[in-house]
Order: sequence, then C-alpha cells, then structure tokens
Amino acid sequence: MQTANTRHEISTVSNSGAALDVAWCDGHNSVFPSIWLLHACDCAACGSIESAVRHIRLTDQPERPVITGAQVVGNGQ
Ligand SMILES: [Zn+2]
Repeated sequence: MQTANTRHEISTVSNSGAALDVAWCDGHNSVFPSIWLLHACDCAACGSIESAVRHIRLTDQPERPVITGAQVVGNGQ
C-alpha cells in the first residue's frame, strides 16, 4: 500500500550532467534540467525563493550548467 509519504520519496537519481532523472517511490519519474535546478536553488549564495531576493542572475550563469553530482540521502529526501 502506498502512503502519502512514499509518493514524495526518491528511489533513485540518474545524473546526465544536463539533468537529473528522479525515480519516485510511487513509480513515476521527473526530469529536472540543470538550469531549472540552478534557478530553484535556495542556498545562501543563490538567495531565497521564499523572499524572492536572488543573489545570482541566470543571465550571468553558464547557458548549460553541468550537474557534477547528486545523491539520495536519508529516507529518500
Ligand atoms: Zn545555490
């Protein structure tokens, strides 16, 4: 039986460098392009999505950023 939590847990992540392909525990997949991940980053260097204050400009970033690593940690978070 699938619970609400397993719907949002990651099973595996594949990194092509240009995108992450996330396999969710409920069986579906999502693809996240590197530029989308950079835009969605909420770290101190990039700025807060919540406040909409950004410290980076996508136009100043590489057109095709390369994802150098990704891993699933904890319980699929
Ligand atoms: Zn960041």
